Amino acid sequence: MGPQTGVGDPITKGWRAFGLAEDLDVDFHAVSRPFLVTALLAGCGAPRDDAYWWDQTLGARTAALLDLLATTEGMAPLGLQARCRQAACGALFEFDLSIEAVLDAVLQQEPADGPISSTLPDTRPLTLRKPTGRDLQDWCSRGLSSREQAVEAMVRSLVIEGEVRREDTPAIAGILAEADPLVAFGVSCTCPVCGAPAEVPVDLEAIALRRLRQRQHSLLREIHALASRYGWSEEQILAIPPARRARYLTLIEEGA
Ligand SMILES: [Zn+2]
Repeated sequence: MGPQTGVGDPITKGWRAFGLAEDLDVDFHAVSRPFLVTALLAGCGAPRDDAYWWDQTLGARTAALLDLLATTEGMAPLGLQARCRQAACGALFEFDLSIEAVLDAVLQQEPADGPISSTLPDTRPLTLRKPTGRDLQDWCSRGLSSREQAVEAMVRSLVIEGEVRREDTPAIAGILAEADPLVAFGVSCTCPVCGAPAEVPVDLEAIALRRLRQRQHSLLREIHALASRYGWSEEQILAIPPARRARYLTLIEEGA
């Protein structure tokens, strides 16, 4: 399973946690999302190679990003929120998403990056390939004006074999979503207030990026607190293992 190296086994194979001095320079706001994801994976994942990560499918990139999050923060479930869609209810409720379960689901999938053979609703056969990071880069750079135009161009570029008409676009989008569940990921849950079933769309990539951005921010706070108190340099502080750093910070908070 080449493209998913590291998935489910985050500590080994050359992966590292996000949190070195160079990670403080990652600009989570200025860079567009595909570039940000590639930079993070090539910086912390294995191999440390931009081209490799651009060539991975969107699902594999998302799985790898979750892997990086797990390497950095452990496998604690992600606490998420959703709003009930029943008009009479509309309650805001919380639910947990297990990173481990998501990564396990990815490992069950096969083939990870092989072509998708399917049929359109009127039984025309169709062979597609899964979109990669490089496709995203290409689609962004083409500057397609309308959303429809963009979706049509994306779908066409993924067809390996088969006759495709303009009206097939929604069906093809459905086939792609089914083949790469992490791209349009959803969680089935039940509203705890009214009991209605809810399918909650979850943007895994956005969640992982937000958590890593928060990690960067808390790292800066840690450096600031320790440097202010002990006069250590950034380099010295980052060389202290995170667990020991946390103990110094607790001492500072306790007013020791
Ligand atoms: Zn409800």
